[in-house]
Amino acid sequence: MAATVRKEVAERVSALAARGVSVGLATVLVGDDEPSQIYVRHKRRDAEEVGMRSVHVDLPATASQAEVEALVRELNADPSIDGILVQLPLPMGLDSEAVTESIDPGKDVDGLHPYNLGLLVLNRTGLRPCTPSGVMRILDHYDLPTSGRRAVVVGRSFLVGRPLALMLSAKGADATVALAHSRTEDLAVVTREADILVAAVGVASLIGARHVKPGAVVVDVGINRSDEGLVGDVDFEAVREIAGAVTPVPGGVGPMTRAMLLSNTVWAAERRAGLRGS
Ligand code: NAD
Repeated sequence: MAATVRKEVAERVSALAARGVSVGLATVLVGDDEPSQIYVRHKRRDAEEVGMRSVHVDLPATASQAEVEALVRELNADPSIDGILVQLPLPMGLDSEAVTESIDPGKDVDGLHPYNLGLLVLNRTGLRPCTPSGVMRILDHYDLPTSGRRAVVVGRSFLVGRPLALMLSAKGADATVALAHSRTEDLAVVTREADILVAAVGVASLIGARHVKPGAVVVDVGINRSDEGLVGDVDFEAVREIAGAVTPVPGGVGPMTRAMLLSNTVWAAERRAGLRGS
């Protein structure tokens, strides 16, 4: 499915190239956090594979807030850059909200600027966070209906859970949504109500068979490092016995998140080229 999205994006990048427009994605990495280095490397390679120009800037962990924001302003003003991605988390001492807010909302391909999150609240077209967009795409691709269904999203982060709850409950998707979190009492009672259960927590195997209604669709967003490698928030082997469908980790939501970043970037370029309304 991610390959299909990448192919669509590559075609749109070619169509822009035919009009003399090249698509540029800038990635910024502050410090030397190892998982962040890997994520950025993947994102750059993905961008190059679909024909985008990838520009990367490394800043040391000692970079000041002013230095990071000055770099973002430079990229905002650079006409060859359509998308800006500042890899989170930033090193301690840097204010990531302020950095995110310094990004031109039209180039905010992570969809995390308050302006773009505001558009999402209003259910208006805009750049939307990649992971929840990827989850919506998975449901759509497999023709898994959301209208009128009960959806439970576990995890209320601004990156995943909360925007996903908005997307699922918006007109068009029309699910009835509950948002569960660390203070939720009797989590299994809540999650067993779900026709669509999404786990975006960061606790390995939090969701077991007892959390799942028979036949439910289970989407595992979690990425946790364990002795067996990467595992999700869902106990896959136990849940697959009872669920109607369940996404794996690795290989489920992760690749879709990366694909949606490319999709956002080409969309931003099309808009900047005047091919889409604001
Ligand atoms: P976060 O730490 O910002 O948020 C975690 C949420 O889980 C919080 O809202 C918290 O209230 C809730 N929570 C914590 N413990 C809980 C519990 N015991 N029961 C119920 N809720 C609980 O994390 P995040 O950035 O939203 O990421 C969540 C997970 O998704 C992480 O494993 C992260 O690595 C992964 N992730 C994956 C992708 C991807 O592409 N697949 C993208 C982003 C995040």
